[in-house]
Amino acid sequence: MALDALKDIVKKIARSSTVDKALVNEIVKDIQRALIKADVNVRQVKEISENIKKRALSEEPLRSLNPKEHVIRIVYEELLKGVGEGLEIPLRKSKIMLVGLQGGGKTTTAAKLGKYFKDKGLKTAVIAADTWRPAAYEQLRQLAESVGIGFYGDKNEKDAVKIVERGLKELKDYDMIIIDTAGRHALEEDLIKEMIEIEKVAKPDYKFLVLDAAIGQLASKQAEAFDRAIGIDGIIITKFDGTAKGGGALSAARLIQKPIAFIGSGEKVEDLERFDPAGFISRLLGMGDIKSLIEKIERITKEEELDAEAFIKGSFTLKEVYKQIEAMNKMGPIRKIFEMLPFGLSLNVNEDVIEMTQEKMKKFKVIMDSMTEEELLNPKIIDGSRIRRIAIGSGTSPQEVKELLKYYNTMKNLMKRMKKGKIPKLGLKKLGF
Ligand code: GDP
Ligand code: MG
Repeated sequence: MALDALKDIVKKIARSSTVDKALVNEIVKDIQRALIKADVNVRQVKEISENIKKRALSEEPLRSLNPKEHVIRIVYEELLKGVGEGLEIPLRKSKIMLVGLQGGGKTTTAAKLGKYFKDKGLKTAVIAADTWRPAAYEQLRQLAESVGIGFYGDKNEKDAVKIVERGLKELKDYDMIIIDTAGRHALEEDLIKEMIEIEKVAKPDYKFLVLDAAIGQLASKQAEAFDRAIGIDGIIITKFDGTAKGGGALSAARLIQKPIAFIGSGEKVEDLERFDPAGFISRLLGMGDIKSLIEKIERITKEEELDAEAFIKGSFTLKEVYKQIEAMNKMGPIRKIFEMLPFGLSLNVNEDVIEMTQEKMKKFKVIMDSMTEEELLNPKIIDGSRIRRIAIGSGTSPQEVKELLKYYNTMKNLMKRMKKGKIPKLGLKKLGF
């Protein structure tokens, strides 16, 4: 499979002596080649590779990730963005309708889904609504029997809509019903008409397009056509096992902005899995290492969230400002800390405020070192004469001490508002800083 080449990219990064521009350019080229070969849409390839390049060359690594891990993380995240989200199907009474061209794998997938939901504990059945192919009835009946799920069909009925209608009545005690429909070589007028009529009668909770991965770039055209004709809720990609072109179907899902629900990777009924984007990309990149790396990233992010939360709770004195300055060395600029806060608030802090903050922080620390414990815990008592004393003691000016106090007051106000749940959409500058 062409996408297998992505595994070598992680190895290449791991083996390199340093992470520099040359390496980034090289791996971006490798990624482009692998994706193009896998039939991923060209525009998408361009977007993914440009994002990787831009981020790898400009972003600061997350705390405690080394430069190699940092680049691998970016590759992982951008590829993940490229496949979009999966689809979680709640385990409750539902109907699924499968559509797609002939030979795509609908009937096989109907049985696979039947097994999937039966294994999850749902009472499951299939309806054979393909009346165009004589063998379709028998194929599904046998598959249903082998999987041990309910079945409804009528060999002698030519009207698929009637079969669905009767089937739903017959199977009303079942939790999950999967409707297998007919397909042709092309999306013909009467096929569309039949699909629409079945949909009206069945009122499916999910309409899934079954797409053969082997068709590569053509997947996009099909996806668009079916989505236009009946509106689909997701895509099931089949035959992912036997083709190098699976990227085409992945791109198709992205193009019509519908999730990939399942992936079929073999002829047997158990060869179906729910599409899990993170797991899928991890595997493409060579599982093990990536997985522990992702766990590491998640752990760091969580720790930082906790730090940030502690930071806005509790009383706010100059001691907190001191801790805050120390934390900033660990966590990066204050803007980053705010971005991590639980409400996802955006403070729109100016870049120049951050610059200034970074520089001033060192001086602030020196000033605070010249304060008494009492002054740190209760900054209100710092009057003119104390300011002069602190300035002399720290080798700074009264003006600079006042600046620290002003910073303290600004932060204190901000904390108060945050605690009250009032999330200021103002820049720090507008808050008098
Ligand atoms: P339908 O015409 O859309 O109902 O397609 P079928 O379910 O009859 O499948 C057509 C062919 O594709 C059959 O030979 C299946 O065994 C095969 N097939 C379906 N899904 C997969 C898959 O995920 N992997 C492989 N290798 N073959 C598949
Ligand atoms: Mg079929």
